[in-house]
Amino acid sequence: MRILIANDDGIYSPGICALAEVAAKFGDVRVVAPDVEQSSAGHAVTASRPLSYKRTPLKGIGSIEAYRVNGTPADCVALGTHNWEKVDVVLSGINMGSNLGNSMWHSGTLAAAKQAVLLGLRGIALSAPVTRGGDPDFEQLKPSVEKVLTLLLPANELSLVNVNFPEKEPRGLRWTRQSVRHYDGKVVPGEDPMGRKHFWFTVIPIEETEEGTDRWAVEQGYVSMTPLRLDLTNEQELIEAQSHYPLG
Ligand code: MN
Repeated sequence: MRILIANDDGIYSPGICALAEVAAKFGDVRVVAPDVEQSSAGHAVTASRPLSYKRTPLKGIGSIEAYRVNGTPADCVALGTHNWEKVDVVLSGINMGSNLGNSMWHSGTLAAAKQAVLLGLRGIALSAPVTRGGDPDFEQLKPSVEKVLTLLLPANELSLVNVNFPEKEPRGLRWTRQSVRHYDGKVVPGEDPMGRKHFWFTVIPIEETEEGTDRWAVEQGYVSMTPLRLDLTNEQELIEAQSHYPLG
């Protein structure tokens, strides 16, 4: 099995080494990631300038080849699969920060997995929370990552899965749906040192969660696994549009 690994935190993120190390137990692994952090870049692609693809030595991942790209997470998957034939699955992460609910819209981590699906491959995004205590403990996470990959890698019928780990040792795994009732994006005004007004686009914690959602599972201490699709068609509203506004 050929496993391409990308992320949005950049090629030097400890999360990508942790994922590569676990993934190497399941097949041939190659890492292709942005040269600088691209968090919240969403599914942007670089179409107005050429991209470079440079071999990068990475410590701690043995003989696994790694490349850095001066582009977005989606660019990395496009170039990575172009330069390495017959990739079976793209893993993205492990992201330093959760990708739950509506934050999936902004996620570069998920975008790399989505790009795999656009190219006819399978994609799995993996994210772990960053807390006040600091970065995720990737050593502690590795056994859970292995459990998830043991389940998901052979599951060929699942084209796109968004995986989120809880803060502490997981109680188990849960299949979940995307939590979409609340949006955690918020603009906070402030002032720069010169007294000029500026704005931070930031995230507010969401307290209310609905049972069965990704947010709920992670809060309860489970690993959340949400099967996703790229078809954004609102089926119900399509039927309503066709009946309320018949055309020609
Ligand atoms: Mn990130």
